[in-house]
Amino acid sequence: MNIIMKFGGTSVGDGQRIVNVAEIVRRQVQRGDRVTVVVSAMAGVTDTLIKAAQSAAAGDNASFRQTKHALLQRHVQAIGTAVTQSEAWGKLGTGIESQLDNFENLCQSIHVLGELTPRALDLVSSLGERFSTQILAATLRERGQPAEAIMATEIILTDDHFGSASPDMEQTRLRTCERLLPLLDQGVVPVVTGFMGATRSGAITTLGRGGSDYSAAIIGACLDADEIWIWTDVNGVMTADPRVVPEAQTLPEISYGEAAELAYYGAKVIHPKTILPAVERGIPIRILNTFNPDHEGTRIVHEARPNGRIVKAITSIKNLSLVTVEGRGMLGVPGVAAKVFSAVAREGINVLMISQSSSEQSICFMVETRSAERAVNALTKEFELELARRNIDRIHADDGLVIVSVVGAGMKTTPGIAAKVFGALGRNEINVLSIAQGSSEHNLSLVVTEADATEAVKSIHAEFELSRS
Ligand code: ADP
Ligand code: ASP
Ligand code: MG
Repeated sequence: MNIIMKFGGTSVGDGQRIVNVAEIVRRQVQRGDRVTVVVSAMAGVTDTLIKAAQSAAAGDNASFRQTKHALLQRHVQAIGTAVTQSEAWGKLGTGIESQLDNFENLCQSIHVLGELTPRALDLVSSLGERFSTQILAATLRERGQPAEAIMATEIILTDDHFGSASPDMEQTRLRTCERLLPLLDQGVVPVVTGFMGATRSGAITTLGRGGSDYSAAIIGACLDADEIWIWTDVNGVMTADPRVVPEAQTLPEISYGEAAELAYYGAKVIHPKTILPAVERGIPIRILNTFNPDHEGTRIVHEARPNGRIVKAITSIKNLSLVTVEGRGMLGVPGVAAKVFSAVAREGINVLMISQSSSEQSICFMVETRSAERAVNALTKEFELELARRNIDRIHADDGLVIVSVVGAGMKTTPGIAAKVFGALGRNEINVLSIAQGSSEHNLSLVVTEADATEAVKSIHAEFELSRS
């Protein structure tokens, strides 16, 4: 079998875990499979890098230096555990130290300029993957498994949409085959950096937070893999985030459509963009647990075998705001909605859900809180005239909100689902601020306050008896 194995940040969180991952890879190769590995940065490293660059831009001239030392120490410690041959050890440590020197210089420049461009941010935030890949490749080699660290910049060609770049699949396919197939033919395991790519001119880009899953799917599609295995820290895709609902159960099989919906509506276990390259080539995805490798996990396939349930899982997305454009005079004015959404789109702001409010004299939609102020400003400008004429009374954002989604195939055609959801929330005295308009076949979404979110997920999970296996 031709398999892509992607390992997330927690799975390579320290030296011992990297050794564990190397063992999982080695065992698979020994079974005769062709394995390509994709790795994330060690847990927390990407966040740390981004924070350092942001604080440098904001005028802080000290934190990035501390970050450099902390990251050096953390990676050297991991190398010390995972790689024992002193020669390999020394070379790796020196290499990482010199890359961290570059990081320090870059942060110094960001500090002087007082500005962090998306391009500079990608250069900084992709560093963690460059380190983890080298350490894992060395760990494999030391265990007798030939392996080579590969920078995805060599194979994944993207546009220059820094921070959430898209691949040029045709070019990426050519480059990936040319670079990786000879290694695989020689029995060498390619260990590729997740999360990143490069533009035609060689500038480093990133694919979006959590994007290493997407990297694995891109490479899987290019190599016509038989399966894409996403190794993480839980037993597959579950009926809810086990951190919110400890009794959540693993879903043994779900469809691509359900997985996409779950991912889009907040199940962090898989990045939403991962599904598309896999669907296009019909490649099954598996979600597996590095800390419990014998568990079957979840299979994501074209058509999932029915498990007798319509509702499969409950998800949530936090840190959201509801933007409202309201005014009595809006009713008769044509094109208001079109103007609202094009103004928001021009700002590059993602609308997560368009919602229905009790009155018809308003348009409401959900965005991430970090873009709420920008959305309100853009709309205030767009509707300057209507505001002056009082056709529109107010444009405002309410923060501290959460979208809770109930996901499963065939929900729309099954009567009574919404009644059960609202019944459960009502009994628990949870106020629903808004519901989704025109939600897809696969889900029902509603908005609650941050304070009610956990209880909302738990009570809907219980209502549909999702912890019953
Ligand atoms: P990785 O670093 O391996 O990519 P992530 O942290 O990105 O891992 O994703 C795994 C996490 O996703 C889990 O630890 C879990 O808390 C969270 N999660 C959210 N929703 C779900 C769900 N429905 N099923 C499984 N895990 C979920
Ligand atoms: N390291 C990157 C991030 O934290 C990518 C990933 O983990 O998938 O966003
Ligand atoms: Mg992830």
